[in-house]
Amino acid sequence: MTAWAAREHHRFEAAGRPFVYLVPSAAIFELDEAADALLRTLTDGPQTRDQLGHFEHVDDTIAELARVQAIQPIERDTGCTAVSPPLSPRVIPLAPVPLTTMVLNVTNQCNLSCTYCYEYGEDKIVDTENGRQPKFMTEETARASVDFLLREAGSAAHITFFGGETLMNFPVLVRTIEYARRRAAEASKAVDFSLTTNATLLKPEIIEFLAEQRVGVTISIDGPKEVQDKFRVFNSGVGSYDIVAPKIRELIRRHRTRPIGARVTLTSANMDVKRIYRHLTEEMGFWEVGFAPVTTAAVRGHAISDDGYDRMLGQFRDLAYDFLEAAVAHRHHGFSNVKETLEELHKGVSKAYPCGAGLGLLGVATDGDVALCHRFAGSDAHKVGTVAGGIDRDAQRAFLEKHHIANKTDCTVCWARPLCSGGCYHEAHVRYGDTGHANLHYCEWIRGWTDVCLRIYGELSVRNPSFLTQFEDANETSPVS
Ligand code: SF4
Ligand code: SF4
Repeated sequence: MTAWAAREHHRFEAAGRPFVYLVPSAAIFELDEAADALLRTLTDGPQTRDQLGHFEHVDDTIAELARVQAIQPIERDTGCTAVSPPLSPRVIPLAPVPLTTMVLNVTNQCNLSCTYCYEYGEDKIVDTENGRQPKFMTEETARASVDFLLREAGSAAHITFFGGETLMNFPVLVRTIEYARRRAAEASKAVDFSLTTNATLLKPEIIEFLAEQRVGVTISIDGPKEVQDKFRVFNSGVGSYDIVAPKIRELIRRHRTRPIGARVTLTSANMDVKRIYRHLTEEMGFWEVGFAPVTTAAVRGHAISDDGYDRMLGQFRDLAYDFLEAAVAHRHHGFSNVKETLEELHKGVSKAYPCGAGLGLLGVATDGDVALCHRFAGSDAHKVGTVAGGIDRDAQRAFLEKHHIANKTDCTVCWARPLCSGGCYHEAHVRYGDTGHANLHYCEWIRGWTDVCLRIYGELSVRNPSFLTQFEDANETSPVS
């Protein structure tokens, strides 16, 4: 006997109306009263058409829900009471994926000693002090990286300079930009640049260059003085706020060709998201601010506990609702985490892999080894080629086979998987010693945050739908962290 069953979905309410996020298609629909009631009934278990007969306009409602694939017919005598979630098709790209972003670790040296740093702290995976990696990338390796990128990229390529502290190798950065512009023009490709820096080495001529060359700048900073100076310290232990604050203000004042963003690392001792946001935007002038929980083993003092993730979610929620009110009033708000998630929701993103690492994004170590991303650059275990020799397609294929969402058992029954897809490989490596492990320590946080963003999305679709249309042709690259 045929019955109707709900497909995997997440119901939420926004602007006083019911909505549904359909997991298999990553689509969002507002429900009318009848569709909401029927879908809720089917969420408790499949029902036949006759059992649903008491619903008004039942056939129309069934047809509508079936059309958007919120429900599906099943054979009832199988004894099945719910539709098992369909696994994502296990599609491994056969043709090489064009590279879009290459992160050049131009140095693995840093003039700060941030206590929580994944590169230098207790959780580091690359020996940047005593290993075989040169401390600075040479101009020759940087040029080979550019050639590699332009060979592998489609019509547009993005280069991000990273460290260590990126500006410690500023001369190579300057010559690489010059070379990349020339080579890209010869190849009729567009090339674009950005960098991440701790701001300690900014000075007028560097700021001038970055502005003139339209280099996107992300500053790693944790907030007001007492917050910044807790972890972001020089080798001597002295905090860096007093050094970086005037330099950042100068950068923001003079670099007007691209918006300047801040990237904040949250730790157990540094969680006041709203206050940090206000300081960085209102008092320092950043255009946008992105927050990321620290990547660290659970045993470290600065690791965020379950309670901490709850607190962080509450703070993110408050700031996201400030964002909503600004968006409704057509005002800018710089909380980039919510904007990025809204964009993914609007585009119906459904990921087989959590990020572009090993696909459209690769990291290059100072010696020219190519790794999954900048955080693995220099690690032999995560190497997928060299800029001179090209991508090791077997290693890349093995990586993609192993890391597909279909292999992450816990994720295959999680409604948040279209956006999360198991989470960052580097985080998984540090937490579980395995890049292929789902980041199960933050599932509640991810689901809570995705739910907040869905509600914001629903509210915007009712109160200011024009805000969402900006995502239809947006093609910005997120800063790396
Ligand atoms: S890591 Fe957790 S939140 Fe993310 S998809 Fe997997 S189960 Fe869901
Ligand atoms: S999400 Fe993690 S693995 Fe992916 S690019 Fe970022 S740091 Fe690398």
